[in-house]
Amino acid sequence: MAVYVFGHKSPDTDAVTAAIALAELQKMLGVDAVPCRQGELNPETELILNKFGFDVPELRTDVTGEKFMLVDHSDLKQAPDNCDKGELLAIVDHHKIGDITTPNPIFACVMPVGCTGTVLRILYKDVYKKEIPPNIAGIMMSAILSDTVLFKSVTCTPEDKEAVADLAKIAGIDDPMAWGMEMAKAKSAVEGVPARDLVFRDYKDFDMAGNNVGIGQLELVSLDLVANMRDDLYAEIEKVKAEGNRHSVFLMLTDIMEEATDLMVVSDDPSVVEKAFGKALEGRTVWLPGVMSRKKQMVPNLEKAFAS
Ligand code: MG
Ligand code: MG
Ligand code: MG
Repeated sequence: MAVYVFGHKSPDTDAVTAAIALAELQKMLGVDAVPCRQGELNPETELILNKFGFDVPELRTDVTGEKFMLVDHSDLKQAPDNCDKGELLAIVDHHKIGDITTPNPIFACVMPVGCTGTVLRILYKDVYKKEIPPNIAGIMMSAILSDTVLFKSVTCTPEDKEAVADLAKIAGIDDPMAWGMEMAKAKSAVEGVPARDLVFRDYKDFDMAGNNVGIGQLELVSLDLVANMRDDLYAEIEKVKAEGNRHSVFLMLTDIMEEATDLMVVSDDPSVVEKAFGKALEGRTVWLPGVMSRKKQMVPNLEKAFAS
């Protein structure tokens, strides 16, 4: 019976490449593992799969009656539907522990590093003592560069840098940072993309003290790219808030060169922004220098603000 490997909803590069890399490792261990995706790929992920010669994983969103593994998340809101009607076998992740529980013991490897790719390298190398195939090394390396925003994010650790240097060698990539810049440009492609698709390109829902809270992020090489789309983006997050009975929807417009985020906010209680970041909204947005990470800088601060 096949075992399906899932990254989170609204997949980013790590969600997709970690599913492929864990499925490959499982195959080496004799498990019939199949990588899946829960949604459309972003242009950066497409570029990476093309470069290293991978097909787009199959689309699946439900695990009723299936055996499955999760990568890059352990939150029910981000997981495939009906997790409780399937059998979860493993979690490999680098986020805070989410709210998924299991009736049986499972394999779990969760580490406080910048990317699931970094955790997977340790599983290949140190836990299962398997050689990483060059094309798998290529996508893992790319995911680390993506998740750590070319090592600039506060989430980046020495293990991530070490992993990129090692994986680049295995993959035969001479200049990983140049490749990372190419990826960043692909990730910044927004022209002609409907506002709704941009909001959901890298989007996660959270439960914060009983409130539904959505946080999307666009990582851009320049905020000029969205200068004439701001009205449309705002209208769209207003819609998303209304549709999902959400308390708040945040859209992080992150300038990866400036290393800052212009945070667009629609909320039942905009004062959470000031509580979380010590800075009030100016109109629709608040400018947050140094903020690039949803998981380390947005989520913990907002959770505290919502709980207070
Ligand atoms: Mg992710
Ligand atoms: Mg990740
Ligand atoms: Mg990210």
